[in-house]
Amino acid sequence: MNQRRRRIYEGKAKILYEGPEPGTLIVHYKDDATAHNAQKKAVIEGKGVINNRISELIFNRLNEIGLPTHFIKRLNMREQLIREVEIIPLEVIVRNVAAGTLSKRLGLDEGTVLPRSIIEFCYKNDELGDPLVAEEHVTAFGWATPQELDDIMALSIRINDFLSGLFLGIGIKLVDFKLEFGRLFENDTVRVVLADEISPDSCRLWDLQTSDKLDKDRFRRDLGGLVEAYQEVARRLGILTESNNGERSKPVLVKSD
Ligand code: 5GP
Repeated sequence: MNQRRRRIYEGKAKILYEGPEPGTLIVHYKDDATAHNAQKKAVIEGKGVINNRISELIFNRLNEIGLPTHFIKRLNMREQLIREVEIIPLEVIVRNVAAGTLSKRLGLDEGTVLPRSIIEFCYKNDELGDPLVAEEHVTAFGWATPQELDDIMALSIRINDFLSGLFLGIGIKLVDFKLEFGRLFENDTVRVVLADEISPDSCRLWDLQTSDKLDKDRFRRDLGGLVEAYQEVARRLGILTESNNGERSKPVLVKSD
């Protein structure tokens, strides 16, 4: 890694560096895992490499269907080139099946299919533990304008439809996931684009047949086998060959876009 480039920001699972051109950044995927608002921490070897690849595939597909994202290209095992955006301080959660905090909050059995997909907003603030907020809070406090919120909801629904089909095709149920959006400034215009990542760190993915968890709940709930589960997702997406995992044996691209 080039140590001279300027570090812009370090998050729980990723580091952002200055990019090669103005308006670009490099995102580096770490192996660090955190849960329960960073009260639980671990380093899980190989996680960053797999998430980089899975997120690359998903963002490429979304770009291909005309959904605007910050993603430009993957650079290496752990890094991507992205467009610099102004992050909107919201975690946008899309749910198809009850699980996690929704199940706790409303007393719903995990696995209950929701009457329709539900979008929730959390205010991105570690000190407050990313509290759930209403649309009213979002616009009243100016975190996003009503137009931006409309765009975010329309994009989230498209992403959910696309991803639900993508995962269904490989025998995985997309239970829920978290998205982040940013403002992309181009010439005199500004538009909302998808940012951050989409990976088993930010989605709940259940095997369709067995309901096995193939996501970060394996870490959150001490189930073990996290890297193996992420590898399984990557393998089904056609990214990794059976024998490959993590950094020690380099992932081999078996299907090129
Ligand atoms: P829950 O609110 O049930 O904990 O999470 C709902 C969905 O959003 C899950 O797929 C979970 O992985 C994702 N999610 C919620 N908060 C975060 C977060 O801070 N980081 C990541 N990576 N995913 C999150």
